[in-house]
Amino acid sequence: MNSIESPLQYQEVLVIGAGPVGLTSALALRLKGHAVTLIESEPEGRDRPGSRAIFIHNETLKLLEQIQPGLGMLIASHGLVWPTKRTYWRERQVFVRHYPAPKPNILPPFSSLPQVKIEQMLLDACKQAGVEFAWNMPVSNVETTPDGVTVTTESGQIWAAKYVVGADGSRSMVRRALDIPMEGSRSKNSYIVADVTEDEDHPLPLERVFYYDHPGVGRDVLFVPFVGGWRVDLQCREDDNLDAYSGIEGVRQWLPKVMDPKYLDRITWVSTYQFLQVLARDFTDKNHRVLLVGEAAHLFAPFGARGMNSGIADAIA
Ligand SMILES: Cc1cc2nc3c(=O)[nH]c(=O)nc-3n(C[C@H](O)[C@H](O)[C@H](O)COP(=O)(O)OP(=O)(O)OC[C@H]3O[C@@H](n4cnc5c(N)ncnc54)[C@H](O)[C@@H]3O)c2cc1C
Repeated sequence: MNSIESPLQYQEVLVIGAGPVGLTSALALRLKGHAVTLIESEPEGRDRPGSRAIFIHNETLKLLEQIQPGLGMLIASHGLVWPTKRTYWRERQVFVRHYPAPKPNILPPFSSLPQVKIEQMLLDACKQAGVEFAWNMPVSNVETTPDGVTVTTESGQIWAAKYVVGADGSRSMVRRALDIPMEGSRSKNSYIVADVTEDEDHPLPLERVFYYDHPGVGRDVLFVPFVGGWRVDLQCREDDNLDAYSGIEGVRQWLPKVMDPKYLDRITWVSTYQFLQVLARDFTDKNHRVLLVGEAAHLFAPFGARGMNSGIADAIA
């Protein structure tokens, strides 16, 4: 008897990964009437550092509204809409656009809030809809047959399902287990990203500002406000010594050259990334039992806010 015939746990659909894309997939499937269990490697209530996907597009809010009326509005109500966008070439402003204030009871053009807050609202919606959760359970293998999928966890549990949604992020175990390669390119230069909390007594104007060749650092810098703080993004050059700019010590060197030094005591997260344009060769296995979604399937540069937004679109498609 093989493991599909003698599973410890059986489900119609298993979703693997409780990031924004896995949570949206589980919610969308559950609201269509399917029994869904979501398996996540980390414990419930884990610390998810950094603002990450702070920009949620109007189209994404609409999609969430479509699967659960009120959900897009709820997320938007916790975010902010910056009314001005400016671009500078060194000290000279070369572009400015002002947006009208969003109308009440209508989805705004976008909403800016930390990813962890979006995930919390998706998690609450999943629980209310009756999605089952298995936390703290890293998946270690996935096998498919024409009839279904067997999922093994590191703790030795075996789950069987008709279908699996692989939403386990950029280093996807599901994708690796199915031997599906990623193909594409990676930028040679790196980007440093720092979150700082706002000084609520003396806040900066809510403006998204991009500098080509910022006069303080001679590199491109992007400032994006979100609820409670700012994302500051520094674009290093290919020949930069990354160690001089990255990590908390590196950021402490360049941040006061682009922002008031008071923000040095307000740094909450620092990370480094490269621009990737990478796709999984297939989004499904040979038996069409597993679907890869979100960063398990594709990796895009954060500029344009395509990461979480495109993943949520996958999940609802
Ligand atoms: C600096 C930065 C800024 C960004 N800004 C934006 C933005 O403004 N807008 C935007 O749309 N996107 C943005 N992104 C991208 C966004 O954060 C990601 O696209 C998004 O988190 C991907 O969601 P996901 O659910 O596919 O994967 P993840 O968020 O990576 O979730 C994967 C989940 O799977 C779990 N998991 C992993 N392995 C296993 C396993 N073996 N078994 C079980 N569970 C497992 C993980 O613990 C995790 O919970 C940004 C990213 C960065 C780094």
